[in-house]
Amino acid sequence: MNFLPIIEAKRDGGELSSEQVHELVTTYTASEIPDHQMSAFLMSVFFRGMSQAETRALTLAMRDSGTLLEFPEDDRPLVDKHSTGGVGDKVSIALAPLLACLNFRVPMISGRGLGITGGTLDKLETIPGFTTQLPPERIIEQVQHIGVAMVGQSVEIAPADKALYSLRDVTGTVPSVPLITASILSKKLAEGIDALVMDVKFGRAAFMTDMDAARELARSISELATECGVKTTALMTAMDTPLGRAAGNWLEVKEAVDCLDFRGPEDLQELVLTCASELLMVTGKTVDSTIGRQRAEEELASGRPRTKLDELVAAQGGDVAVFREQLKQDHIAPVVSDLVTGKEGFIAQCDAQLVGEIVRDLGGGRLTKDSVIHPAVGVDQLAKPGDAFDRKSTLARVHARTETEAEAALARLGKVFNFAAEPPELPPLIVTI
Ligand code: URA
Repeated sequence: MNFLPIIEAKRDGGELSSEQVHELVTTYTASEIPDHQMSAFLMSVFFRGMSQAETRALTLAMRDSGTLLEFPEDDRPLVDKHSTGGVGDKVSIALAPLLACLNFRVPMISGRGLGITGGTLDKLETIPGFTTQLPPERIIEQVQHIGVAMVGQSVEIAPADKALYSLRDVTGTVPSVPLITASILSKKLAEGIDALVMDVKFGRAAFMTDMDAARELARSISELATECGVKTTALMTAMDTPLGRAAGNWLEVKEAVDCLDFRGPEDLQELVLTCASELLMVTGKTVDSTIGRQRAEEELASGRPRTKLDELVAAQGGDVAVFREQLKQDHIAPVVSDLVTGKEGFIAQCDAQLVGEIVRDLGGGRLTKDSVIHPAVGVDQLAKPGDAFDRKSTLARVHARTETEAEAALARLGKVFNFAAEPPELPPLIVTI
């Protein structure tokens, strides 16, 4: 295939036909288009955008690049949640087991870290032995049996997204409404789900920094998913501050387990319960959001979702005994250093973008396609807006591989916070579309 005219057409603002879009997805997935040409195409889409018809064609071609999961008839609705990406966003790890306990089936296909935002797959792979690569028949069997599977795109499921996702990550082409829409929905539509809750982030560390752009993305995803037969509801959530108090792959698994143990943190628990309640409503299991939320909260407090996570870990090759031992350790990184400012007052701001960059540079994220992720690194015990602190308070802890890297991260962490003499007014976490 001569790919150059397609790049040029998009560069010049032309509209591609469904056949052209389909051909370029299948050809790239078969490794017959070099990365440098696909990068040029992605950058053209970033600047020129895509029409609704092109976005739909891209989404369906990416979905059809692999197998579609087909589940047997069952009373339990098939549901999923996806986030457009944030710093400290470990919602999926706590939510998926909770949903399974609420009598849903959850065939969750997630992604790796993108830019400074973390990825569920990178986090789950810090659990000793845990595999995120399962063949389609195993996913179906596991979901039927225990109600949940958490896997990645693969050569069999949404392979086009697997290939494009890692290329976008290192070519500055993530924050594009059509590319994000197609990336997310290709995976979600391949799952054969009945309902989806989308968490669309806005703010400093989100791909869509302002609310209008986030709203456009939320609408693009919801409308296309609904058109494709998936009942979809979308939340917009603030991403100026990291979610929870930890960012970094293993540290986030640990915090998700805290949430499953009903020990907060508050904002994480709030988002987990809201997503669960939205799915209870959109699938008709409840008509009242207050009752839905209460049901989700009671289930979380019962401890059953925590046990379900262990079941999931065991089903996907993880060693539950080693996982439990690792959870008991305060940290698994070689070096841990505290940030203490010697000041006192209130935290007015905690910059999620800078936290994300620090975690990435410690080795928790990727700078190139071949970057190796270091599971133990990151930041925890983060002070958040509204927290009071004194001269001796720890505002954050750095987890690093070496003293030198810890020192460099600590110096940058000092710039993450803004302080106030009085408690600041806190913006809402969740905003309606
Ligand atoms: N999540 C995805 O799966 N894809 C994107 O492009 C962004 C967030």
